[in-house]
Amino acid sequence: MELSMQSITYLQGVGPKKATLFASELGLQTAEDLVRYYPYKYVDRSRFYYLHEINGNMPFIQVKGHIIRFEKIGEGHQQRLLAIFTDGKDTIELIWFKGIKFIIEKYKTGIEYVIFGKPAAFNGKFNILHPEIDLVTALPPAEQMGLQPFYNTTEKMKAGFLNSKAIQNIIYPLLNQVKQGVSDTLPAYIIKRFALMNLTESLVNVHFPKNAHALNKARQRLKFEELFYIQLSILRQSKWREQNFKGFVFSKIGDNFNSFYTNCLPFELTGAQKRVLREIRTDVGSGRQMNRLLQGDVGSGKTLVALMSMLIAIDNGYQAALMAPTEILANQHFVTIKEFLGDLGVKVELLTGSTRPKARESLHEQLRSGEMKILIGTHALIEDTVQFQNLGLVVIDEQHRFGVEQRSKLWKKNIQPPHILVMTATPIPRTLAMTLYGDLRVSVIDELPPGRKPIQTFHHYQTKRLSINQFIAKQVTEGRQIYIVYPLIQESEKMDLQDLENGYDYIRETFPQYKVCKVHGKLKAVEKEYQMQQFVSGNAQIMVATTVIEVGVNVPNASVMIIENAERFGLSQLHQLRGRVGRGADQSYCILLTGYKLAAETRKRMEIMVRTNDGFEISEADLQLRGPGDIEGKAQSGMPFELKIANLAQDGKMLEIARQVAIEVLEDDSDLAKPENYVLTHQLRKLKTNTLNWGVIS
Ligand code: ADP
Ligand code: MG
Repeated sequence: MELSMQSITYLQGVGPKKATLFASELGLQTAEDLVRYYPYKYVDRSRFYYLHEINGNMPFIQVKGHIIRFEKIGEGHQQRLLAIFTDGKDTIELIWFKGIKFIIEKYKTGIEYVIFGKPAAFNGKFNILHPEIDLVTALPPAEQMGLQPFYNTTEKMKAGFLNSKAIQNIIYPLLNQVKQGVSDTLPAYIIKRFALMNLTESLVNVHFPKNAHALNKARQRLKFEELFYIQLSILRQSKWREQNFKGFVFSKIGDNFNSFYTNCLPFELTGAQKRVLREIRTDVGSGRQMNRLLQGDVGSGKTLVALMSMLIAIDNGYQAALMAPTEILANQHFVTIKEFLGDLGVKVELLTGSTRPKARESLHEQLRSGEMKILIGTHALIEDTVQFQNLGLVVIDEQHRFGVEQRSKLWKKNIQPPHILVMTATPIPRTLAMTLYGDLRVSVIDELPPGRKPIQTFHHYQTKRLSINQFIAKQVTEGRQIYIVYPLIQESEKMDLQDLENGYDYIRETFPQYKVCKVHGKLKAVEKEYQMQQFVSGNAQIMVATTVIEVGVNVPNASVMIIENAERFGLSQLHQLRGRVGRGADQSYCILLTGYKLAAETRKRMEIMVRTNDGFEISEADLQLRGPGDIEGKAQSGMPFELKIANLAQDGKMLEIARQVAIEVLEDDSDLAKPENYVLTHQLRKLKTNTLNWGVIS
């Protein structure tokens, strides 16, 4: 019977209880799901150790020998079980805090066992906590061969006797079935072209590797398959969309654009802005619907590009909308754009949650009549009551806060979906963009407007505080303003707020002559507004704050950003915070303060911040340092299926190859109708039925 038709319940060693755990904890239901549940690591069991070889820092090891005696120590909750184990020469303590009764009954003194675990030093002696114990004769071949697989489990699973070892014991016999041969999920020509391992061997070797080389080949194959199907799925989706949705054609550049360009534009566009505008023009003139992602660091001039794109829409008889994630940002855009447009006579309005019903009504009316040309707002503008006469372009600022569903609502605002331009200041590494936004074309503004001085960044230990104080004094004397930011992380909120309060008191004592304001998320809105205003107006020279200032504040006169406990921030957050300064003409500085003892990875983060101001370089480094886990967490929702074995931080090269292959396959056979490609259609369908809510949009 096919693996996908066999319920886990009836597998050897499972039963209904464990099957329920597999389903509820890991979403695994069939034998196929299980063989596709790959180990997360392997431990080399090819060699037995002697106890005298144990030293301070060893991985998992195995030792052959026997138990001399058991000792119970302590009472009740404190109770633990010791076993003195010997390899014939030396001894070591094995320790259990749980399952004591079970252990004593199961294991006997004087019988030859293999123990397996990680030695730890305690009181000058070594012990092993909760070792695995097996009869020498009962060891499964994985251990005999060398590499033992380890599987992720949950606390609930462990409580239900489904630890890694148990999963290993369930999967092992299942592979006998696999060995009979499973039909491959990749076409033969692809396997041949890249000399990939076939599926049968890959599945066997990914669980119970013959040797390290075979494991490597197996993993390569499985990763390739995963990345390839993701790309294939994304590319087909966008093809389908191109075929089914025509795009409005903006064929001309007209009066609004031209007179804006000659009369209103106070400066020359940067080369990058011009290039991106050309890319957008090509898209909107092509007859296909545009779906473009515009990436550019804070301050690179995205708003202007958005505005000029909207003017093109208007010149061609359409309306445009600009959507921002918060009211503050929507407001800022509204003010900026109105100012830019001057007396050009293009009608712009703002719609947010705070717009009064009366104003809303007339606004709706003007939108329907087509008199209103540009609508700026928050989520409020995707509500069904908001109807346009002829919406042609939607710009979305900071895309990651908008869900797929919200975007798909925008599509329905006209008989054909409007062109979509998504802007983000949080650069996404290329590999991630290719996966997540694989069907969005990507434009990059990689050049700041001229005349900006790059921010200088320093990393200092907290012991340097006195000289930093002198620096603060000097800057303030020159008329500049200073941010001092403290981390505020949910778990230790009380302590963090205390840090902020202490820092605030310290600064006030150190600089009694300056006005210092204080902003954090726990303040009442009115108070927060007041404190902010103190800084914005220049009344206060120093602002002590938490990360609430990360978005939305624009004080060009602020030239110093001091980040306390910088070790507690991630790279992208540090970069966003730094972006609060360097907005005026003056040289700006960012000072990262940390303790003396730093983990190697933290030190790296500081070095990267000091070395570069480039948001793309930072996001790439972030991905490498953290692994894709975090970013992916967010990202997975945007992906057609989740990644089980490929890793976007490490497998970027393979992703590009996989994408290229997917492109070639579709170019040759866009409907996947050729017999050799049946397997692709079949597999895509299967992967998708396992995935909920595979929406129309990226
Ligand atoms: P972003 O939205 O990418 O963070 P903005 O669009 O807010 O950046 O632009 C930042 C600042 O730079 C604004 O004050 C804007 O007017 C200005 N600016 C934009 N383009 C140019 C340019 N080509 N030359 C000079 N200044 C520019
Ligand atoms: Mg912006």
